[in-house]
Amino acid sequence: MLYLDANATEPLRPEARAAMLAAADTMGNPSSVHAAGRAARRVLEDAREFLATRFGTRPADIVFTSGGTEADALAIHALGTGRRVIIGATEHDAVRSAAPDATILPVDGDGVADLQALSKLLADASPTLVCLMWANNETGAIQPIAEAAAICRHLGALLHVDAVQAAGRIPVELGSIHSLAISSHKLGGPQGAGALLLAPDVAGISPMIRGGGQERGRRGGTHALPAIAGFAAAAQLSLGHDEDAAKGIAAIRDAIEATAISAGATVCGNGAPRLLNTTCLALPGIRADAQVMALDLDGICVSAGAACSSGKVASSHVLTAMGLGPLAGQAIRVSLPWNVTADAAPVFAAGYARMADRLRAALAPRAA
Ligand code: PLP
Repeated sequence: MLYLDANATEPLRPEARAAMLAAADTMGNPSSVHAAGRAARRVLEDAREFLATRFGTRPADIVFTSGGTEADALAIHALGTGRRVIIGATEHDAVRSAAPDATILPVDGDGVADLQALSKLLADASPTLVCLMWANNETGAIQPIAEAAAICRHLGALLHVDAVQAAGRIPVELGSIHSLAISSHKLGGPQGAGALLLAPDVAGISPMIRGGGQERGRRGGTHALPAIAGFAAAAQLSLGHDEDAAKGIAAIRDAIEATAISAGATVCGNGAPRLLNTTCLALPGIRADAQVMALDLDGICVSAGAACSSGKVASSHVLTAMGLGPLAGQAIRVSLPWNVTADAAPVFAAGYARMADRLRAALAPRAA
């Protein structure tokens, strides 16, 4: 099997697995005051301190969650209530569904947010929360986050950034952003943990889930200690600064794109700065779900647009917002995991060419 769906979930890093197993052997609940509880709390606070250093915030300003979806929802609940909410047109459903009445900020043909339009929207000075993703899950397009943060600070708006796909792949720091969502399983940690990182001026947020007062009253519920320990271990390894690893991944992605282009594909959003591990390949006239299924039969795992838990594949709202018309239902996402090896490129090339030939033949009108 060739696994090229890292943006859905990265393979678990062995070091994260080891940290999870060690934490699972810690008997106590981090909220208990006895020795076992204190031992569990040490594991929790070590993870928090590491993540704070790694992403440029204070340990007290990190709220552990169950993942990226909950971190986005908590940010929008806590910072968006009573404010107008503006979201980028290519945001993940985690953000879109938490802000159903949001004003949509348009993107250009490569999926990059229109910051002039943002400045215009913010000119009326009404209290606003802006939500922008750092990197897109379907195309890998990287948004101009530093510029957006400067605009928001200047015009008095709050900025929430969904860094779920960016963290671990490119340098990510809180900086002058108000809140940042990250997720463990997108950087090689286990599923089931994530965090909302808060700027000191908004750190005292009100919870979405109440309960035992965990996370300084900002998120109730007993901590998923093994998942959090694995999360911190994975974050330690995926620093996003390893030049050699980056070059290797870029070379494999470039080879994959060259293969697909020679088979008639278009690379969506390739004019934007992009994550090196991600490419979005549209094959005109051929439905994305048919491509995914044909590649799967050949042992190659990729996804079509946004993976959705029902298993259904719809037209991608991301590619539609980029103005790609029918191609929005004809694109697959190939995302290389941290442990990809060079032989992925020739294996994908052979599978992609076979898939394109087969599906085109199936569509061709039969001779009378
Ligand atoms: N935001 C983005 C950009 C994503 O790609 C995803 C997951 O695919 C999420 C949020 C949700 O994260 P999680 O799976 O940790 O809930």
